[in-house]
Amino acid sequence: MIALNDTGLFRQQAWIDGKWTDARSGKTIAVTNPADGSSVGTVPAVSAQEVRQTIDAADRALPAWRRRTAKERSEVLHRWYRLMMDHQEDLAAVLTSEQGKPLAEARGEIAFAASFMQWFAEEAKRVYGDTIPATSADQRIIVLRQPVGVCAAITPWNFPAAMIARKAAPALAAGCTIVVKPASQTPLTALALAELSQRAGVPAGVFNVITGSAGIIGGELTASPIVRKLSFTGSTEVGRTLMAQSGATIKKVSLELGGNAPFIVFDDADLDQAVQGAMVSKYRNTGQTCVCANRIFVQDGVYDDFSRRFVAEVQKLKVGRGVDPGVQQGPLIDDSALAKVSRHIDDALSRGATLLTGGKPHALGGTFFQPTVLGDVDADMDVAADETFGPVAPLIRFSSEADAIRMANDTPYGLAAYFYARDFGRIFRVSEALEFGMVGINAGLISTEVAPFGGIKQSGIGREGSRYGMEEYLEMKYLCLAGI
Ligand code: ADP
Repeated sequence: MIALNDTGLFRQQAWIDGKWTDARSGKTIAVTNPADGSSVGTVPAVSAQEVRQTIDAADRALPAWRRRTAKERSEVLHRWYRLMMDHQEDLAAVLTSEQGKPLAEARGEIAFAASFMQWFAEEAKRVYGDTIPATSADQRIIVLRQPVGVCAAITPWNFPAAMIARKAAPALAAGCTIVVKPASQTPLTALALAELSQRAGVPAGVFNVITGSAGIIGGELTASPIVRKLSFTGSTEVGRTLMAQSGATIKKVSLELGGNAPFIVFDDADLDQAVQGAMVSKYRNTGQTCVCANRIFVQDGVYDDFSRRFVAEVQKLKVGRGVDPGVQQGPLIDDSALAKVSRHIDDALSRGATLLTGGKPHALGGTFFQPTVLGDVDADMDVAADETFGPVAPLIRFSSEADAIRMANDTPYGLAAYFYARDFGRIFRVSEALEFGMVGINAGLISTEVAPFGGIKQSGIGREGSRYGMEEYLEMKYLCLAGI
């Protein structure tokens, strides 16, 4: 077991209806440390029947939770926020042990996750309705916003805390209850959050965490008529399946899916800033985020200069175990992630790209990979057409603004895009032309709890964070009062 100040945060049971619970079958799944393959712990593999029981618990908890005043729910979320920050170090240790990211990034993620608890604690009190001038003198029209009901969340391994927080916080703020299924690679962070939810005073059944087979749990959550809403973050492929499954019960869905983020450096960019932006956008979490730059387009006039400076920075990155001091690049999550990275590099090199640095598994072994930069990449190579989800930066040359926009938009995805430019007119033209839900302009890092995060096209539906994130957990009800 990993060393924690508060050992109560290390939980290896599901959190169902306010109780720590093993699977009745006794079945478990193993959680391993991607830095060395060692065992971190085990969690239960719950059955379909246990999923249904959890949904029932969330349903039973709903009436009392939604009846509480917004201020009361806000206070619970504030306490949860505080507890997360008080235990930031332990939560980061759990996170790094199962996910691999450097401790500094894990601490940052815990603060980011906690920020959603704080933000939605505040928003809980601002769920306003409307009054609308009626078309008849004896009528009044009022619009109420009410909680959707029982919600389900399915979350990925790349942000084991934040992806749960930004679904659970608005759900609870709105007065919904929720069943969370974390990724099987990273369930322990989710269970640590469940422990803190209890200490914060979240009532039994309001926040539940179940672990086990994605197919079984996803199947039950989507089939259940009690579950009114599904919020999913993960691959487009799985999102498509879950959306189809949710069709049977006409659920509300929020989907945060894959991206293929363009990062465009124009001739008029501040190159120092562009290099720094590309570093954080590409190499954060070892390239394993859905908003990581996946295609770096560089204009002719600055291509050589940018690539020289960028490669010099990439070569300084320190690769190692997340717990070692000063490490900036952890391991990839698993062998198939490593295989995909190698496959993309091989495809690009065999079709004429040049290797500017890296290119191979790292000497540390396991799933460590050298931070890599490829030059002279074409937009149709796999590394640019598909989401690599690893520490590989493909540089693509372009000559005109119109070409850059056309190539950037030439993807079924539409999550994040970035560009570096100084010309005022260009900034507006390009911002408006990019078909993406989020655009970083002279910024490589755009996630914040106060802004709407989400994509268009096949990158998803709905937004998370900000006041818009609250809408996803609310239904509108129109009251027509007559006979006045
Ligand atoms: P990633 O590429 O980030 O692993 P996935 O979409 O495979 O993305 O996984 C994201 C989440 O979806 C995880 O919690 C995973 O267990 C879950 N998941 C995977 N397949 C299914 C499925 N068929 N039904 C429901 N959930 C699934």
